[in-house]
Amino acid sequence: MANNTLDNIHIILVGITHPGNIGASARAMKTMGLTQMRLVRPKQFPNAEATARACGADDILFNAQIFDSYEESLQDFHLVFGASARQREISWPVLTPRTCAEQALPIQAPVAIVFGRENSGLTNQELEYCNYLVQIPSDANFSSLNVAAAVQVIAYELRMEKLKNTKFDSALPSPASVENMERLYKHLEETLIDIKFLNPNHPRLLMRRLRRLFNRTQLIDSEVNILRGILTATQEK
Ligand code: SAH
Repeated sequence: MANNTLDNIHIILVGITHPGNIGASARAMKTMGLTQMRLVRPKQFPNAEATARACGADDILFNAQIFDSYEESLQDFHLVFGASARQREISWPVLTPRTCAEQALPIQAPVAIVFGRENSGLTNQELEYCNYLVQIPSDANFSSLNVAAAVQVIAYELRMEKLKNTKFDSALPSPASVENMERLYKHLEETLIDIKFLNPNHPRLLMRRLRRLFNRTQLIDSEVNILRGILTATQEK
């Protein structure tokens, strides 16, 4: 089903020097529900530092596919995005992470998002394989993110795109019924009269203001019960 899986989306890390960045990228992926990683000529892998920085996302490292050839690593993809901090000499269509996610999610075939080396990024030749560049709109004077941080930003947008069509289940039960709220307001009014905060002969707008306050917060039944318990205790004093 469209927009229902992130398993088509592969993160390709090219020529990573610091194994910690591979682990941190795996963690960034797993937190956002991405599972597929490929490594092209990693300097050191497998590696204890990578495993440590993955913080439990070791399954992604364990399943990562390793390639000697960049071109080979891309053979089976139907759409390729290249993450790049800089606008290159070659002008290429550039997307934001969000528009990248909008393009990538509906594709019912493997899609690659390629990330480059810590010190030099992706070469122009490597970018030529890409349908689009993806640029995180960072500050022009300091535009380069750590590679795992760049993976995190793009993975987050992929996740948001996936969730867009998913109905968010509200964590809270429905707001209390009018009937239950009216019981609360009646109880509140009686109590305020009992404690002489409200003069029934000169009520002014107090109850209306309190209704506005509580109505804004959309109380649920259990919260109404707590408030009514407090009112009962107050009346008993
Ligand atoms: N000096 C290198 C920076 C590499 S950072 C350069 O100028 O390209 C390592 C990788 O992180 C980059 O190759 C890219 O894939 C990703 N990255 C870093 N900052 C990014 C940004 N602002 N937008 C998109 N990708 C970015």
